[in-house]
Amino acid sequence: MTTTSAPLCTICELHAESTFKIEGMDCREEVAMLERRFKNLTGLEDFSADVMAQRLHVKYDAAKLTAAAIADAVAETGMRAWLEHEEPIALGAADDRRRQRFVAASGIALALGLGLQWTIGARAAAAGSAVAVLADSLFATAITFGLLAIWRRTLSAIRSRSLDINVLMVIAVAGAVALGQYSEAASVIFLFAVAEALEARTLDRARNAIRALMDLTPAHALVRDDAGERRVAADTLTPGAIIVVRPGEKIPLDGEVVAGQSSVNQAPITGESLPIDKAAGDHVFAGSINGRGALDIKVTRLRRDTTLARIIHLVERAQAQRAPAQQLVERFARIYTPAVIVLAALLAVVPPLVGGGWRTWIYRSLVLLVVSCPCALVISTPVSIVAALAAAARKGVLIKGGAYLERTGTIRCVAFDKTGTLTRGTPQVIEVVPMDNGTAASVVALAAAIEQRSTHPIAQAIIEHAAETRVQAAPASDVFALAGRGARGVVDGSSIVLGNHRLFEEMHLCSAAVHARVSQLEATGRTAVLVARDDRPVGIITVADRPREAGRDALAMLRDQGVEAVVMLTGDSRSTAAAIAGELGVDDIRAELLPEDKVAAVEALRRQYGSVAMVGDGINDAPALANADVGIAMGVAGSDAALETADVALMADELLKIPFTFRLSRRTVRNIRANLAISVALKAAFLIAAVAGAATLWMAVIADAGASVIVVANALRLLRAD
Ligand code: ADP
Ligand code: MG
Repeated sequence: MTTTSAPLCTICELHAESTFKIEGMDCREEVAMLERRFKNLTGLEDFSADVMAQRLHVKYDAAKLTAAAIADAVAETGMRAWLEHEEPIALGAADDRRRQRFVAASGIALALGLGLQWTIGARAAAAGSAVAVLADSLFATAITFGLLAIWRRTLSAIRSRSLDINVLMVIAVAGAVALGQYSEAASVIFLFAVAEALEARTLDRARNAIRALMDLTPAHALVRDDAGERRVAADTLTPGAIIVVRPGEKIPLDGEVVAGQSSVNQAPITGESLPIDKAAGDHVFAGSINGRGALDIKVTRLRRDTTLARIIHLVERAQAQRAPAQQLVERFARIYTPAVIVLAALLAVVPPLVGGGWRTWIYRSLVLLVVSCPCALVISTPVSIVAALAAAARKGVLIKGGAYLERTGTIRCVAFDKTGTLTRGTPQVIEVVPMDNGTAASVVALAAAIEQRSTHPIAQAIIEHAAETRVQAAPASDVFALAGRGARGVVDGSSIVLGNHRLFEEMHLCSAAVHARVSQLEATGRTAVLVARDDRPVGIITVADRPREAGRDALAMLRDQGVEAVVMLTGDSRSTAAAIAGELGVDDIRAELLPEDKVAAVEALRRQYGSVAMVGDGINDAPALANADVGIAMGVAGSDAALETADVALMADELLKIPFTFRLSRRTVRNIRANLAISVALKAAFLIAAVAGAATLWMAVIADAGASVIVVANALRLLRAD
């Protein structure tokens, strides 16, 4: 018997096939390299390489191995692999059909046999009568067909010397036949074969959930070039190609709109329900659905690198990571099965030795064998997690693994970045206050000159304001960003400093009059940007950012889900932060933080609350996100870096997705617990019943298979989570 970390039942295996394109596989040499690398890849069943087409066809057990892991193994040999459009597909439909026929035949024979036995009723005592012989031969037929339905898997299990459920069932059936229990043996094998088919079908649904994500992009695109318009495989297009997407069509590749206007439904990628208007210059994602207008799109990415392709890759990787609950269950199963088998062996031998009837005890031992399969136990947890990950991905929430999914629900404190997270991140200039006898226009001109070199949202606001008020900005030189504070540079030979109050205090540029004015302006929730020329303050520009609409609701929902504290972390001043916090209902503020202070703030919150989630923008806030127990990045569609760094990535800028994620986490954990309780309770009951002699073989089979089907069906309910 092999002791792998994987479950012992073949039912728990998900046979899958994937075809990869392999870059760099040019001769037999490289195939041999792959062969060597694949030798110690658990779960890999078979592979064939087509050097001419640079294609690799792999058959594997999806419960132990993922396409992503195979691609990683290929990468280790220096080659590059990516999935061809067809995704892991279940093996052998023809095989399935044949098995179904065997199961049906077995069922018919069994039914006839039982019917006959019932009609002869009490007269069955006349053993050896022609009718009894006929009934027995019907049972034998049922057993034969049942065995035919499962012999393939049984053989492969025997060959790999693993004592899996098929082998155990065959032993149980053989035992029942040896004891002369023909009808019982026939019922067991038939019920088992039916159960296996049923379970395979339910598992298919879990697999489809992930595959459905991959079906989102069309395989063909309408390309336009000098030769006119024609339909080509989307795989063959490279960045720069122009494609045409007609109204109502799905967008096949990531790109930038070059002509046309339309509204595009990005729900498949971002989970946003409202269509977004797109015109020249806007980015569009493969997999989104074009609205009423036709769009000409310049392709920006290869098909295998689109945002959606990355999402799929991340979901696959997430699936491959074992969640803590899963590890626990597998550790339990590794002890449970051998223990029950040993118990069965003892039961068959010991009681008869001390005077028990050997027929009775062998029968009970056979029941134990059936009960020893940990299938329901082992299969349900990964199905729950896969279903939850898929449900989340469909809503534009990428959770990077079962561990984060489990952990999110236990979070007690959520820290939010302010700008761009709790607020929209598109501030507007509200007021310009000149000082020192200057004019508003001169203050804006100086500020805009410096901000031209900055990417900060405030810089954007000031530049836009300058454009609107027709203020010309002079060119600036030697511009430096002062992270979390502002910027400085040289304009027309003068040294210019601009930034927040803290910066001016630090640089001793802040007079009592300026101080008073800033405090007064900030109390209304605006951010004050102070401007100084040659060490003299010349003006204050106030900008304001609106809180996101759903902010209040989202925070209230988080509290309902047991989050004790919602904290705002910001580089902005305390009074500005306090005004916005008040509007949203934030409990606590940590203001005037430099980027590195945010990391320390998260640390402090972790010490205080035990577990902390940080919500930010994935790029500026990446260090703080990395330090939290769960780092949640918002609005990551279009930014690969942000997509990669966070533990949970929200494709859209929607705060309501955060309470959704918390809810899903709690539901998943509850679902897993319920399933474990069901299967452990059933196992325990049958274990006792078997030893006590109260359980029959067919009851054990029904309980076992029934438990598997129930827990998998229960786990699949998570697919509909919202
Ligand atoms: P947050 O995202 O928490 O608001 P940042 O670290 O981005 O924090 O910025 C903190 C503060 O620094 C801003 O509120 C602003 O006052 C000031 N600041 C940073 N960069 C600039 C800039 N380019 N122009 C003006 N002010 C800036
Ligand atoms: Mg920010």
